[in-house]
Amino acid sequence: MPKCSVLIIEDEKNIQTFMGKVLKRQDYRVLYADNGQQGLEIIRSQCPDIILLDLGLPDMNGSEIIRDARTWTSTPIIVISARTAEHEKVTALDLGADDYITKPFGTSELLARIRASLRHSNRLRTDSTHYLRPYRHGKMILDFSKRLLTINGQDIHLTPIEYKIVAYLAQNSGKVITYATLLSNVWGPYADSDNKILRVNMANIRRKIEDDPAQPKYIFTEVGVGYRMAEDEEEG
Ligand code: CA
Repeated sequence: MPKCSVLIIEDEKNIQTFMGKVLKRQDYRVLYADNGQQGLEIIRSQCPDIILLDLGLPDMNGSEIIRDARTWTSTPIIVISARTAEHEKVTALDLGADDYITKPFGTSELLARIRASLRHSNRLRTDSTHYLRPYRHGKMILDFSKRLLTINGQDIHLTPIEYKIVAYLAQNSGKVITYATLLSNVWGPYADSDNKILRVNMANIRRKIEDDPAQPKYIFTEVGVGYRMAEDEEEG
């Protein structure tokens, strides 16, 4: 299999170098851009498999790159930012970024985000809308073809809405899903933008699947942004 190529668009040299080293060690082919213009040129000329994008670039805001790239490519984009402002993360995700990671981050977190985004984009290309292989994490198995959720071999009864929420998060496991994305995928495009119904359902889901709903092991809250389901363990 040819190496996966990763484009790092980042003006801070030390972060660029750190990420480059980590990725090369994992056998990724690494491309670098120091500013937005260069980044856009490399996206067009080299078609990287995944893009790591700093939002604060010297010549433009990273969100402009997401907006531009999304008019013609679905290459996964992971936003890398020192900014912790939740609205910026949500904006980047709503513009079409696949995920984000906040500085400072560890190596394993970076690699997990990359794996999850690459896996998701491969699935979109190969499986179209069907996910035949069950999702597994810890003691949980979600069999999409049977619409059956088991934990430790026990069937967990979910309402149809709860099932849709869990299934959507499992199909996107490892990636953050914004409240707006989840609402429109579960309730449809005209869903109320109020997150309350989502929070109520999530509380019920957690009571059913988590040993301690306050310390979830399967579905995590990304405060002010959305939810992230633990990464599928079945995938290589
Ligand atoms: Ca920067």
